[in-house]
Amino acid sequence: MVRAFRGGIHPRYFRELTRDKPLREAKLPEKVVIPLSQHIGAPAEALVKPGDAVKVGTLIGQSSKFISASVHSSLSGRVTAIENRPHPVLGDAMAVVIEGDGKNEHEIFSSRDPEHVSSEEVKKLIINAGIVGLGGAAFPAHVKLFLPRGKKVDTFILNGAECEPYLTGDYRIMVEKTKEVIGGLRIIKRILNTEKAYVGIEKDKTEAIRVMKEALTNEKNIIVIPLTVKYPQGGEKQLIKTILNREIPGGGLPMDAGCMVSNVGTALSVYEAVTFGRPLYRRVVTVTGTMIKNPVNLLARIGTRIGDLIEECGGVTGNCAKVITGGPMMGPAQYSLDVPVIKGTTGILCLGGKEISLHEELPCIHCARCVDVCPMGLLPTEMRKQIKAGRCEELQNYNLSDCLECGCCEYVCPAHIPLVHLFKLGKSEIQRTGRP
Ligand code: SF4
Ligand code: SF4
Repeated sequence: MVRAFRGGIHPRYFRELTRDKPLREAKLPEKVVIPLSQHIGAPAEALVKPGDAVKVGTLIGQSSKFISASVHSSLSGRVTAIENRPHPVLGDAMAVVIEGDGKNEHEIFSSRDPEHVSSEEVKKLIINAGIVGLGGAAFPAHVKLFLPRGKKVDTFILNGAECEPYLTGDYRIMVEKTKEVIGGLRIIKRILNTEKAYVGIEKDKTEAIRVMKEALTNEKNIIVIPLTVKYPQGGEKQLIKTILNREIPGGGLPMDAGCMVSNVGTALSVYEAVTFGRPLYRRVVTVTGTMIKNPVNLLARIGTRIGDLIEECGGVTGNCAKVITGGPMMGPAQYSLDVPVIKGTTGILCLGGKEISLHEELPCIHCARCVDVCPMGLLPTEMRKQIKAGRCEELQNYNLSDCLECGCCEYVCPAHIPLVHLFKLGKSEIQRTGRP
């Protein structure tokens, strides 16, 4: 029986803008700006210098730290600079600038049958390919998928929920690259050594459910689960609760509940890395929003300027009030169209004035709507009070660290209080002071 997680919201989804349009390869950019930090963990260190020639797939950055990910060129051409450049998440960061030569020459990678690759070799291929979680979190995949000694999980969940409004990239991947996604799922299931796997897909993605079910007809141990359409259904904790009725202990990880969750885009990249040795140098980006002339899902090279992808989709049609990378609930707003697509860029949204909240903040009226919708069972109104009063030591009583920053509380708040902003401030204050 499929259960529901507590709380959550039902925003308007706007998926009809791109849902039925096939994936399209984006134009080859003339130049790419590839940040050395596109993932959680230590930035990669540049392995190239200005003047070096590179091809598509050349390794250009690597770190010796365990929690990090390699970075590859997405163009063939020449490195022109290694310098600080605008970054969609960090503000600015060191990046390798590559001018393309228009030839689109690729490094040569060898193909193999994924069924006959050992776990050790799979690990090396995933590390070499620089794969990170493509659902937006960008956590290095080798750290997540290869469990620490003594840890074991019994279930793998493939996350096809894609619960953020506007985004349809994972949906198109499931519909158009079904075989590859299931190939990636099988590789992950094998390295985790789990008997069971589930594919969680929100019910409104009917075509994805149909093709995935059809492709898995003869698989008894991989089951497609249609999920209630509710945000944030794709959160790891919410997915695990919904499908397995298990809770992750406070401050814990999915493996502490005996399971592992990965996004469909990550499964596709794992398949491509293991089968073709292909590094992660491109990803699916939903370029959408009511202000975009021709919204579509593009297979874009990492490092492409987001302004160029917007132009490729016909540009904006009216007064664009906000540009966001990712979904509207959790994605960061951008101050410049010069920021590049990075591994975690799920979408580029161009929103009009009616789609964004421009209300003035009012005093809290203690209505408790924020409490009702919080999927983590937190008390947003109390956390807000403590942070505003500068009492960070009190926050341990309210489990601020469990906050997903999902934005449900802020979405329903009639006083338009920027709750997520406050929680981010509270978390960074705790990190800065080392309290509580
Ligand atoms: S929803 Fe807003 S107004 Fe209502 S209790 Fe929460 S913070 Fe206060
Ligand atoms: S942002 Fe944090 S406090 Fe607000 S609803 Fe999400 S998890 Fe709860």
